[in-house]
Amino acid sequence: MSGKPISLGEDAAGGCLCGAVRFLVAAGAVPESGYCHCRTCQRQSGAPVVAWFAVSPSRFRYLQGAPATYRASPRAAREFCSACGTYLVFREDDAAATLSVNTATLDDPALVPPEFHIYCESRIAWFDTSDGLPRHARGRP
Ligand SMILES: [Zn+2]
Ligand SMILES: [Zn+2]
Repeated sequence: MSGKPISLGEDAAGGCLCGAVRFLVAAGAVPESGYCHCRTCQRQSGAPVVAWFAVSPSRFRYLQGAPATYRASPRAAREFCSACGTYLVFREDDAAATLSVNTATLDDPALVPPEFHIYCESRIAWFDTSDGLPRHARGRP
């Protein structure tokens, strides 16, 4: 892990490809930021990996549009734009759990660098990154 905790210095906006859905993440600490290589993220995004970061649900709000949802697991919903398909948010039913925002949907994705990899057991063999970040076969221990 890098030494310095990740934090958003100011509110960060983001949205989907077509612009119908826009959101805002309030400034503050980002307790988790990583890459997920699980098959569900691969299939939902159509990409080899999803970079995401977690914040308290109270720090996230939609500014415009309303996402469609898909439940890939019993405990959470995945929110996406029904017009263009962009996968935006992973939201657990447990309101006390953190909400995961897909980092590349931020207007400035460079604000929140990933710090680890999870579900490397399903990493696609031809896809790799050259970072030295911790890699976990499944979730974080
Ligand atoms: Zn859209
Ligand atoms: Zn995943």
